[in-house]
Amino acid sequence: MSEHYDIIIVGGGMVGAALACALTHSELRIAIIDARAPDTGFTPDTFDLRVSAITRASQHLFENLGAWPGMQSRRVTPYQEMRVWDATGRGSIHFSAADIGEPDLGHIIENRVILGALTERLQAADNIDLLAPATPTRLQPAYPQTASLTLADGRQLRARLIVGADGARSWVRRQLGIDCLGWSYGQKGLVATVRPQHGHHDTAWQRFLPGGPLALLPIGQEHCSIVWSCAEEEAEQLLQLEPDVFLQRLDQALGDSPLGRIEHSGPRAAFPLRLQHARSYIGPRVALVGDAAHTIHPLAGQGVNLGLLDAATLAGMILDLQQQGRDFGHMLRLRQYQRTRKADNLLMMASMDGFKRLFSNDNPVLSRIRNLGLSLADTALPLKHRLMRQAMGLDAHLPQLSQRRWHAV
Ligand SMILES: Cc1cc2nc3c(=O)[nH]c(=O)nc-3n(C[C@H](O)[C@H](O)[C@H](O)COP(=O)(O)OP(=O)(O)OC[C@H]3O[C@@H](n4cnc5c(N)ncnc54)[C@H](O)[C@@H]3O)c2cc1C
Repeated sequence: MSEHYDIIIVGGGMVGAALACALTHSELRIAIIDARAPDTGFTPDTFDLRVSAITRASQHLFENLGAWPGMQSRRVTPYQEMRVWDATGRGSIHFSAADIGEPDLGHIIENRVILGALTERLQAADNIDLLAPATPTRLQPAYPQTASLTLADGRQLRARLIVGADGARSWVRRQLGIDCLGWSYGQKGLVATVRPQHGHHDTAWQRFLPGGPLALLPIGQEHCSIVWSCAEEEAEQLLQLEPDVFLQRLDQALGDSPLGRIEHSGPRAAFPLRLQHARSYIGPRVALVGDAAHTIHPLAGQGVNLGLLDAATLAGMILDLQQQGRDFGHMLRLRQYQRTRKADNLLMMASMDGFKRLFSNDNPVLSRIRNLGLSLADTALPLKHRLMRQAMGLDAHLPQLSQRRWHAV
């Protein structure tokens, strides 16, 4: 006996959960499967080690999904300014939301907060079955009109479309035999929550060190979440250091800055950094979204924002086709989704890879070029304003769900 759904989403991370949320209030029956039970607990005194810089486009998506108030009631930290400077020269650039008439440049939000608010919406929806923890063991893509999925407990599920939202090591992608192009950066992103002596000034800070960028992202009233990209061996050493020695290393890495000394640091963790792009985002009655389709260096905080654009695009397409009584799992429609998202994702990935190579480098010629480039960009106002709007996700051609005030659900 199999259970029938319209859509099964494998992976209830930020992207899979956002996709499911966009389909609540439709007539579609959805199952969302995750190997882990959702980790949504929130206590104001502790910080999730994983945070995301959320663009305006992603904020609009969360607003349209009705999940933004749930995030605000937990903790979101807007930042009005961003300062980027190079450790090997005098080049620097300063972005201010006021220069482009915006209240802020974006928000830093703990991943657990994002997931908590989305999960709350999913639990309230009567067309969504949240199956977690549950693990799929077998995927049979097209089975004329439906694809089927077997779970470890023996349950058989069928659906018109299966979506792989199961992260960088996607099981769904591997079942389809889809290869990825890409490479490891030989780096890890070390994360920790720290407290700078003079507070964060509602500013996102990023210093380019020869080994990789060190970002301090404001979180709450007086803390910052750091993402320190460095060689794998260095990251392993940094993880092992005693807390006071780690603080000294962090101070050295930051150099003189308005943040002052770093006074306290909490637990640390490190994640391998890869550039990875699936050759195809689709298979028979299957589509990939988020990190299952692409991963990117975190230096510009765009990874989950790209995934949320995949989710908004796919959800918009499914809702339109469903309304027209057409088959949203048909290969022709899935190709349309792939065409729309691949071009945007590849463009962003190529730019971020270029930045990574230009900035994580101690070649003296490149150092002079990037310091000059930073200083020139800082004074070329039209270019700077354009960069800001692009980073906020406002210059792209956005799916309807990611646009301001499109209250679909
Ligand atoms: C250090 C670091 C900092 C970052 N900072 C930012 C940032 O500031 N801004 C930004 O936009 N991006 C950032 N990113 C990228 C961002 O974290 C990812 O793009 C994002 O988490 C991808 O979300 P996802 O839902 O696609 O995948 P994931 O978050 O990986 O979620 C996948 C889900 O699938 C589940 N799953 C996996 N396998 C299975 C299976 N076989 N069966 C069932 N369930 C399964 C997992 O349990 C998980 O819940 C950062 C990344 C790193 C490493």
